[in-house]
Amino acid sequence: MAEILKGRPVIDKLNDHLKNRADELRAKGSAPALAIIRVGDSEDDMAYERSAAKCCEAAGVEVKRRHFPASVGQDELIGYIRELNRDAAVHGVLLLRPLPPHIDDRAVCRALAPEKDVDGITEYSMAGLYSCKKIGFAPCTAEACIDMLDHYGIEIAGKRAVVVGRSFVVGKPVAMMLLERDATVTVCHTKTKNLPSICREADILVVAVGHAKMLGREYFSPGQVIVDIGINFDETGAMCGDVDCDEASKTARAVTPVPGGIGRVTTAVLAKHVVEACGRMMNKTTKL
Ligand code: NDP
Repeated sequence: MAEILKGRPVIDKLNDHLKNRADELRAKGSAPALAIIRVGDSEDDMAYERSAAKCCEAAGVEVKRRHFPASVGQDELIGYIRELNRDAAVHGVLLLRPLPPHIDDRAVCRALAPEKDVDGITEYSMAGLYSCKKIGFAPCTAEACIDMLDHYGIEIAGKRAVVVGRSFVVGKPVAMMLLERDATVTVCHTKTKNLPSICREADILVVAVGHAKMLGREYFSPGQVIVDIGINFDETGAMCGDVDCDEASKTARAVTPVPGGIGRVTTAVLAKHVVEACGRMMNKTTKL
């Protein structure tokens, strides 16, 4: 049977480190703080806001929340983001998306200062990721994937990695990060031919397609490490991933569960980014 790579031990270890680092920064006069912006009242956003706030507070990060009605104007939203950019007591901003259709998502993301872009939504963060420079931050879910593999001692260098999904939030950044760690990476999408056979060639299979249990037995081969990023609900209303975990467990070396896997680690990575952003800002101020 496959080893189940649970998120909880990864979070506990990370939180111990973050609490110490946050205390250090607080003692030097700067308490790491995250601002969360929610527009509208979607259940998903509210659940993510609660979980992000809880996780950040557990890691010693202060949280400031602001809620706008779904009818908020783009200028008002951008004005608030600029206010946060100027606020020295805020080190990271989490903007819950998608935004309502009357708002230009890219214009709003672009308003955020790259040094406070703790969820990698600006073009600066993307440039940082693709040029391997520390500008902004990687999207939290993509980094959660790498942190999970590292925590469980899974070697990446020299391995054949297959990423199914090419979104800017997950598929593309995780592919870049695996490549940066010397994996040989194939990225698959809806136009990919022979998807099951490509997936079977993977040593590390990362799946982010957004379809409940889409990857079944024909996608797997013995000894794989399978990272399931999907968050879906099956016909009974139970949360499940993009991978059929029961089938995957029969042949894989290791599988991340849903729930209890990458999703939880994502919010811990968010807290890590806020603490890091606070540290980077403090270094910059000290050097001036
Ligand atoms: P998107 O819908 O933006 O992207 C899905 C990707 O999967 C696209 O690139 C698409 O290809 C590809 N895809 C869809 N169907 C198929 C198929 N049948 N065969 C091959 N490729 C396919 O989703 P996200 O990347 O935002 O999210 C993916 C999943 O991850 C979702 O379940 C989401 O809930 C979850 N998620 C989890 C997070 C966490 O914290 N754990 C955070 C973010 C997302 P194409 O480009 O050709 O359309």
